Amino acid sequence: MTSSTLRWALIGASDIAATRVVPAMRALGHRVVGVASNSAERAAAYAAANDLSHATTDVDALVGRDDIDAVYVSSTNEQHPAHVEAVVRAGKHILCEKPLATSMEDATAMVDAAARAGVLLAVNHHLPGADTHREIRRLVRSGAVGRPLAVRVFHAVALPKRLQGWRLGGGPGAGVILDITCHDASVVNPLLDRAAIDAVALSAQQGPWGAQSEDAVVAAIRYADDVLVQTHDAFTVPFAPTGLEVHGDEGSIVATDVMTQDPIGRITLRDRAGAREIELGDRRDLYQIVLDAFAGAVRGEGTPTATGQDGLAALAVAYAVLRSTATGRREAVR
Ligand code: NDP
Repeated sequence: MTSSTLRWALIGASDIAATRVVPAMRALGHRVVGVASNSAERAAAYAAANDLSHATTDVDALVGRDDIDAVYVSSTNEQHPAHVEAVVRAGKHILCEKPLATSMEDATAMVDAAARAGVLLAVNHHLPGADTHREIRRLVRSGAVGRPLAVRVFHAVALPKRLQGWRLGGGPGAGVILDITCHDASVVNPLLDRAAIDAVALSAQQGPWGAQSEDAVVAAIRYADDVLVQTHDAFTVPFAPTGLEVHGDEGSIVATDVMTQDPIGRITLRDRAGAREIELGDRRDLYQIVLDAFAGAVRGEGTPTATGQDGLAALAVAYAVLRSTATGRREAVR
């Protein structure tokens, strides 16, 4: 571990903060000072449940405190721009949840504002830092599959009961594409290390919950050099393993259980020599990896797991997929 101690404020009394991110902060020795919520009652209850000493509805007051170094924004997606803007005004570093915003314009403005203010803005894409995905990138870069031709991503899961709220509504931040497809892109973009060009996609409402937004989507995305990427993302599939495959003209990588929140998964490389499992050494918690890299970047050492630009690039792919489901046409990644 290279982590230095950061003192955090939370914006958003969220599930992900309570279940994953705050435990990861504490495991690294970081301090979590307080939480801001839209409701005083929820803030107080959340602070009590998560052992935080400050609870407020006043975002500016919380992020302006002298005992805060950085702010984790995990409010609902449409609130991210206003919350990030408040943190930028206070001159604090920001780890913002994905998707950065519910429009490319807002997301771009957030990244630009943080750069102008000289604060770090990173995005909590937990997958690209995983040992599995680092190893897949290393294999592809070392030529293990030859020329990459295609990537398949299987990221169809069951949405837990406790999260069956705003994700299934009709708001601008709802739907499986902004929730999961942007995570796929956060992995595929650095893996292929070339521009995403365009996408075609079909979505559906498959679940029993009367969703007002898509809860399943299948997309085909073309990257530069005619590399084709296929993704299946859903809230409706309880028993499928997740996975990612990379197929090249000299080999194939088949990775299972790698599109998850836990540090698990296996990688098999198949080529002329046969099939063999790749050894993996680092099974650290994925959120600790993100936070550790963030703390390093604050110190001026290394880069975050996903920078603001990485978050923008992932969102651009998700938006091309989303537009294609609406227009029925091939949409450029902008
Ligand atoms: P939650 O629904 O748990 O929390 C989002 C907001 O909803 C909270 O900030 C809170 O608002 C409000 N809220 C929560 N519980 C209640 C309740 N019982 N009644 C009324 N309002 C409530 O969302 P998630 O934790 O699932 O997601 C938060 C963000 O994190 C999203 O941007 C999401 O995309 C992202 N995320 C990222 C993951 C990752 O692995 N990187 C995984 C899961 C989510 P308030 O703050 O005003 O109290």
